[in-house]
Amino acid sequence: MSTAGFNSQNGTGTGQTYTNGPSQNPVALQPPPGVGYGMNHQPAYNPMQAKVLGPPGPPLYASGPYQPVPPGPQSGSYPVAPAQPLLTRPQIGVLPSHTPPQSASPVPGPRLAQTTPPAQATPPPPAVTSTSYYTGPPAWQYAAPRGPAPNHVNPAVAAPPHMSHGSAQPPGPGAPPTSIHGYPQPAPPPMPLHTYQPNRPAYGPPPTAPPTMKPAAPPAGPPGTTGTPPPPKVDGDVAGNGPQAPNSYNHVDTRMAGAAQPGPPGRHLGHYPSLPPGYQNTSAPPPAPLHPALQAATQPYTQGPQPYQQPGGPGPGPAQLSPSMAAMSLQSSTPEALRVVNLLQERNLLPSAPVPAPTPCLTQDLQKLNCSPEVFRCTLTSIPQTQSLLNKAKLPLGLLLHPFKDLSQLPVVTSSTIVRCRSCRTYINPFVSFLDQRRWKCNLCYRVNDVPEEFMYNPVSRSYGEPHKRPEVQNATIEFIAPSEYMLRPPQPAVYLFVLDVSHNAVETGYLSVFCQSLLDNINALPGDSRTKVGFITFDSTIHFYNLQEGLSQPQMLIVSDIEDIFLPTPDSLLVNLNECKELVQDLLKSLPNLFEKTMETQSALGSALQAAFKLLSPTGGRMSVFQTQLPNLGVGALQSREDPNQRASAKDVQHLSPATDFYKKLALDCSGQQVAVDLFLLSAQYCDLASLGCISRFSAGSVYYYPSYHHQHNPAQVERFQRDLKRYLTRKIGFEAVMRIRCTKGLSIHTFHGNFFVRSTDLLSLPNVNPDAGFAVQMSIEENLDDMQVVSFQAALLYTSSKGERRIRVHTMCLPVVSSLSDVFAGADVQAVTGLLACMAVDRSVTSSLSDARDAMTNAAIDSLSSYRQSVLTIQQPGLLAPACLRLFPLYILALLKQKAFRTGTSTRLDERVFAMYQLKYQPLAFAMLMIHPALYRVDDLSDEGALNISERTVPQPRVLQLSVEKLSREGAFLMDAGLVMYLWIGRNCHQNFLSQVLGVSSYAAVPEKLCFLPELDTAESQRTRALVSWLRDQRPFFPSLHIIRDESQLKPHFLQNMIEDRTESALSYYEFLLHLQQQISK
Ligand SMILES: [Zn+2]
Repeated sequence: MSTAGFNSQNGTGTGQTYTNGPSQNPVALQPPPGVGYGMNHQPAYNPMQAKVLGPPGPPLYASGPYQPVPPGPQSGSYPVAPAQPLLTRPQIGVLPSHTPPQSASPVPGPRLAQTTPPAQATPPPPAVTSTSYYTGPPAWQYAAPRGPAPNHVNPAVAAPPHMSHGSAQPPGPGAPPTSIHGYPQPAPPPMPLHTYQPNRPAYGPPPTAPPTMKPAAPPAGPPGTTGTPPPPKVDGDVAGNGPQAPNSYNHVDTRMAGAAQPGPPGRHLGHYPSLPPGYQNTSAPPPAPLHPALQAATQPYTQGPQPYQQPGGPGPGPAQLSPSMAAMSLQSSTPEALRVVNLLQERNLLPSAPVPAPTPCLTQDLQKLNCSPEVFRCTLTSIPQTQSLLNKAKLPLGLLLHPFKDLSQLPVVTSSTIVRCRSCRTYINPFVSFLDQRRWKCNLCYRVNDVPEEFMYNPVSRSYGEPHKRPEVQNATIEFIAPSEYMLRPPQPAVYLFVLDVSHNAVETGYLSVFCQSLLDNINALPGDSRTKVGFITFDSTIHFYNLQEGLSQPQMLIVSDIEDIFLPTPDSLLVNLNECKELVQDLLKSLPNLFEKTMETQSALGSALQAAFKLLSPTGGRMSVFQTQLPNLGVGALQSREDPNQRASAKDVQHLSPATDFYKKLALDCSGQQVAVDLFLLSAQYCDLASLGCISRFSAGSVYYYPSYHHQHNPAQVERFQRDLKRYLTRKIGFEAVMRIRCTKGLSIHTFHGNFFVRSTDLLSLPNVNPDAGFAVQMSIEENLDDMQVVSFQAALLYTSSKGERRIRVHTMCLPVVSSLSDVFAGADVQAVTGLLACMAVDRSVTSSLSDARDAMTNAAIDSLSSYRQSVLTIQQPGLLAPACLRLFPLYILALLKQKAFRTGTSTRLDERVFAMYQLKYQPLAFAMLMIHPALYRVDDLSDEGALNISERTVPQPRVLQLSVEKLSREGAFLMDAGLVMYLWIGRNCHQNFLSQVLGVSSYAAVPEKLCFLPELDTAESQRTRALVSWLRDQRPFFPSLHIIRDESQLKPHFLQNMIEDRTESALSYYEFLLHLQQQISK
């Protein structure tokens, strides 16, 4: 059996060199690999990295918290602030010779007043040249004291000098609290005003003590947490997490339990009725029924009873249960999951019904309250008691999260007191236990905490004395409107900066008019409020700014040609208030497409444009949307083509999956430090080195969109996808200056993160922007035996600023049982979550080691787990390739991964497309990633209303999902393949005439157009059914999959066939052959 498997992620038991080990503080302890790549390549612990031969390169960033690169010659590619800016910038104010033609000759249509700044006025004062790009982020971000940032909107925010450890200087007047270190613990936080109510005893027994309340159970936590609580920790991190980055958000996120909880009884005056009602239930229109593949996962959340709505209150919740009642026996619910399946005999494993997320084996009361699997999923829904048990299972342990998902129902709580564990800062949640009315025990660290007085009042029932019925204790997903203690500075406004490629190549694609029209159409739907700001930068070989200051009669274009030393010509008028300057913005959007119509400029100074954009956004933070159509070839960040088309088809190992330069990563980290996220829209027919460019989004928590071969005339499917994606992008919810922390019960340890973000301290993800379409994954290990525990919990807390300027905290908590036998571990395996996590790990492995190594590791993951199942779980040995029913799809999904664009060999996969697929696997929420891995195939020429869904008077047929094999195709039929980002409708050569005429509107097979990418709207039942199915599938996801209608002769047919995972190809095994291979390896 190979040792190249992923089994090692399970920790120390394997004795291999790249075991996870008990590294609790990976960022601080482990130097990151040289130039990171991959989708997470955060300087976090990576179990794959030890496979890299040779010493790792010098770390780009010192381990631990990110420190800005200091200015000076040692800073590599960073430009050094010029010593004599006034003399070294003769270009300023001089119209560059290679200005786009419109500057010399008028073009028809709306014109911009194009000016270059006058020489005597524009050489900026030294302050301009030393904008924060050179000085590093202002001090409020990091420990390092820095000078005040020029251009900062809020001086009070820009220069708090008291951020470093040990400083006890309180913030100056007007400055928001910054760091716990600025507030020595004895200093009390501002206390809410309390009104004494003489008519009721403040601390007496509640008027109606619920009979179900259990008396104080003896705390089962580890020693030290049982008796008198230890003094509150100042830095409320999980114990043992090592040195804390003196990061202010970190402190804000963690200081609250200590800071906001009321003082001890006696100092505190009772006050309950005057609490703000504060509890809203934001409700959206009822959601459309979901795709079968998603439906089952949805049910627990959308259909489950919402406990806080029940007037009578729920039955005894877990909060009232003693720990011994909280878990239940597994025996009753495991048989189906553990049913032995001989994969070589049972060919048809794909369920006609969807593959649901397994339900954890918990009591009904706990499960009813548990977090939706759409938001929070674990690869093992039964957590092994020990690391050695986990090692035996050979399955990865990890979480998959979709934390900012659009929810149809989200309880929102406004409270002056957000109740958190004083020790580990966990937010109170449905899985804590109440020892009595005044004390609750943390389910993560087992510390006993006081129930604050305010918490005794339930705003939902407007009753007193039932803390276990508060919405916080009845909802596994909840959102708080944060009090001011959670703010470092006034919440930032929504700021949107658009950075647009206007080179000749860009104009040729025609994207600019689509973009401008889309923004014009949606400008009133941009999330924000009266403070929303927007700005625009265009670039080719020079950088063009747009003065949109209120009062101007038309937008003013300012060209800066000195791309080596970029500066902002008029820093105050480039980002403007959208409401006040909307007409100018609209004028600009109407004129932009014409403005560059005739440009012959082919060069692209993307790096300088990004630097300029970063400078512009630094004072406020915000979102940078970058549109790029070619390989940047001028100035900083210039790249060269690394793709060798001849190698594509033959090479077993793929080169150049890691970035060619660290420029984009460095800039992304600077952006992250200033709360700027960069979203990249790449529209290109040519190689653009996404492996390098993508770093700008990955480390700044942005998104990457890719439209290969985009052309406004030649590729209508891409144009439609771009339009739809833009609409979603511009109007979807957005959170600014966000951080996310994931906590888990003591004994478990989170180590490797996947997704787009930067790991700012041990477990704090920095997310300058968070969007509802982003997924994350983490790997875990078991550091201490979970012997005494029947359940463990996981909590993700996302602190963000809404587009309306509210600081909010979204908290998700999931509870899972702990098991002690290997068969129970297997019985709880979530095969889709396992596959999703393995895909993330394989992306990392492809980059740090090699593609072939990653492929071997995936195969070995299947071999090892099935082998372990056979050896350790099966009591009766029988021939065949045996799997428990819950893992019966595992080999199929592994084979699907091997044939996925990200990992496949032997076919002509373009490098950028491969890299993009890797991004998607790491960034997409699991439900969408699974469609990319294992597409859904339906027969659609015989759709009927039988079993159809009825959604708002539209009938949506529900054909069964077919195996991905040409065996399932028929020349007489038509088949729809849904592969996530793309759909194919394959028309058989002898397809029924009825389908051709009634659905496609053509008279014969030969008349089906070559590049048809939409279904004509015909007034026939067949057409309506087919269109209803396609649009319903599209509605399930936030991005827009394009549809290609293909015939046998179609150029796209190979793409369709490549997704036929069960079939043999030139370079890959069929499913049956793959099973034989696994069996052979297992019986070795
Ligand atoms: Zn705790």
